[in-house]
Amino acid sequence: MSMSLPPTLGHVLVVEDEPRLAAVLGDYLAAAGYTHHWVADGNAALPAFHAQRPDLVLLDLMLPGRDGVEICRDLRRLGAVPVIMVTARVEEVDRLLGLEIGADDYVCKPFSPREVVARVGAVLRRHRAASARPAATPAQAPLLVVDGTGRASVRGRELDLTPVEFRLLAVLHGALGRAFSRDQLLGRIYDDRRVVTDRTIDSHIKNLRRKLAEAGGSEDWIKSIYSVGYRMEL
Ligand code: CA
Repeated sequence: MSMSLPPTLGHVLVVEDEPRLAAVLGDYLAAAGYTHHWVADGNAALPAFHAQRPDLVLLDLMLPGRDGVEICRDLRRLGAVPVIMVTARVEEVDRLLGLEIGADDYVCKPFSPREVVARVGAVLRRHRAASARPAATPAQAPLLVVDGTGRASVRGRELDLTPVEFRLLAVLHGALGRAFSRDQLLGRIYDDRRVVTDRTIDSHIKNLRRKLAEAGGSEDWIKSIYSVGYRMEL
């Protein structure tokens, strides 16, 4: 009887062709309060999605049958199920971001299963918060919109940004989850590098964080990465 089962935090479809890895993930998911269903072949992913109706899909990139990119695109067409993409190399994340396959988050192998489960929790919370919003209200607007005309808004509330702050935000937002060094950011936001220093980036980031928070977003959307630079996560 389902009534006698303890409540679960969510049902996760694990698409992973390495049985040992899938088993470890399954153990950690179970320990954290999630149920899961595992398939090892890319061709089995969509049938399992229809049969299982998972709350989230943990999707390996390299799979026998069909690869994760195709599967992710199909899942996107089918609806709004959150997808966490698992890749073997950090460089693949850049490529996937460029393909705009629409995964909600990316993790790289080798990963800590604890970290993956934490990401599952974070993505589900974000997703549920987004879908719990009433329809047709401004609050349902996407969390952060950065358009091509120099304007950005948080849930429909426009941000008052300087041109440099806007460019900084556009770079970070255009590659969510990707780490940028201060130098990379400088290269992308200024035409003339001679007039600025690394510290300039820090002060722009500080202002940008404050403005995001003031508009109802979070300072925490822009993460500092120790000794590297910054990345954005929503
Ligand atoms: Ca694989």
